[in-house]
Amino acid sequence: MSATTAISNTQLRADLDGTVTAPGEPGYDEGRTVFYGGIDRRPAAIVRAANVDDVSRVIALARETGVELAIRSGGHSIPGHSTTDGGIVLDLRDLNALEIDVERRTAWVGGGVTTGRYTLAAAEHDLATPFGDTGSVGIGGLTLGGGVGYLVRKHGLTIDNLLAADVVTADGKLLRADADSHPDLFWALRGGGGNFGVVTGLQLRLHELETVVGGMLILPATPEAIHGFIAEAEAAPEELSAIANVMPAPPMPFLPPEQHGRLIIFAVLVYAGEAEAGERAMAPFRALAEPIADMLGPKPYPEIFVPAEEGFHPVASVRTMYVDTIDRSAAETIVEQLQASTAMMAAVQLRVLGGAAARVPVDATAYAHRRSPIMVNVAAMFGSSEEAPVHEPWVAGLAAALHQDGHGAYVNFLGDEGEERIRAAYPGETWDRLVAVKRRYDPTNLFRLNQNIPPG
Ligand SMILES: Cc1cc2nc3c(=O)[nH]c(=O)nc-3n(C[C@H](O)[C@H](O)[C@H](O)COP(=O)(O)OP(=O)(O)OC[C@H]3O[C@@H](n4cnc5c(N)ncnc54)[C@H](O)[C@@H]3O)c2cc1C
Repeated sequence: MSATTAISNTQLRADLDGTVTAPGEPGYDEGRTVFYGGIDRRPAAIVRAANVDDVSRVIALARETGVELAIRSGGHSIPGHSTTDGGIVLDLRDLNALEIDVERRTAWVGGGVTTGRYTLAAAEHDLATPFGDTGSVGIGGLTLGGGVGYLVRKHGLTIDNLLAADVVTADGKLLRADADSHPDLFWALRGGGGNFGVVTGLQLRLHELETVVGGMLILPATPEAIHGFIAEAEAAPEELSAIANVMPAPPMPFLPPEQHGRLIIFAVLVYAGEAEAGERAMAPFRALAEPIADMLGPKPYPEIFVPAEEGFHPVASVRTMYVDTIDRSAAETIVEQLQASTAMMAAVQLRVLGGAAARVPVDATAYAHRRSPIMVNVAAMFGSSEEAPVHEPWVAGLAAALHQDGHGAYVNFLGDEGEERIRAAYPGETWDRLVAVKRRYDPTNLFRLNQNIPPG
């Protein structure tokens, strides 16, 4: 059945409180645009749900017609799972309620809120929940995959701070999942992605966080500095989390023009603790090499986030993995390979994990990589999909060169890489448990436009 015969947008409009945008109508192109470029899909309808009832009705329509259903929160899915050719996009951005309970240090947030908006609102009360490194990412997608960011070592992943979730499942029913109610679903939602239903609300724990010590530190990317950076990040107190991008220096105004294009470590460090101890924790990183730019210092937590570039929709090829170590030889490989890339932008991103995230038992959530100490993401960004055959082999080659045995993948950074890689995100028993929960809550695989866990 084709989507156009299966759904009537006139009927859909009559049935919903939210808006429906069809091909050719104003706002259609904007509504179908996702963060990554080169993803040019044409949904039959873009529904902006106004409330939970709208979500249930759209799910019912997809169930009855078999039309493909894409769930969109912040639109940052790397393989473009939040849009569809000929199906319905269920856009959650208007589920944007945000209630902060300062006394209890918890927040209820709609499934379509961005992490940046939440972080700003929480900071007004000197509070924070750990998310990722980019404020335009949706809380929906980020949380369901895990959520790894600047507070990971101090306060864990986002899912380690998830207290409850309201979910509309494939039968159209609204369930509240938490430690006591639907615990199997609650387990699966913490890492299993959008496989189990549409999350319309999340309850999250907040932590006291006024100022942090941190910001950008830019160092020349020699193998010694890269290897040293990782060693220092592993040795640092767990108040400190760092994300280091090894990449050619972009033409940013605060970088001297002679550095543009040279390989740098573009690092963002965050010390979530007392200022003096924070300054001390920064010293070993500053000592790795003469910094090209040093913006480390005390600041309100939201200022850590690099502002998003409006209209930036790069085409990207990515690979994600976990490794045990970045030794001298791995650092040399990174430098050599980055120098050989002809992409508009190529980068190797290194995130040292551990701390609070590693203290959670491996089987407590569907994110099973608790013992993996370092996450590595290799990425090439370029102007158009036609260039992919040049850059994709470069990304795959560098990922293979850095690969260490027995390690998996982080589901939120997977591209469209096939079942084997999805299974790498869910090793061992995690996969079997996820399949069982999927069978229970979505036996027909209605929610399949994701890193899919088939019901078997
Ligand atoms: C620039 C950039 C920076 C990033 N940085 C980080 C980072 O620092 N840390 C990190 O952990 N990840 C990071 N990510 C990865 C990010 O977490 C995932 O891409 C995530 O899926 C994006 O969520 P979204 O809601 O913005 O995306 P969307 O494209 O809207 O959603 C992606 C998928 O998630 C599911 N989904 C989303 N919302 C819901 C919901 N409410 N209910 C049910 N299913 C839902 C759906 O299956 C959907 O297809 C980054 C991605 C980008 C592009």
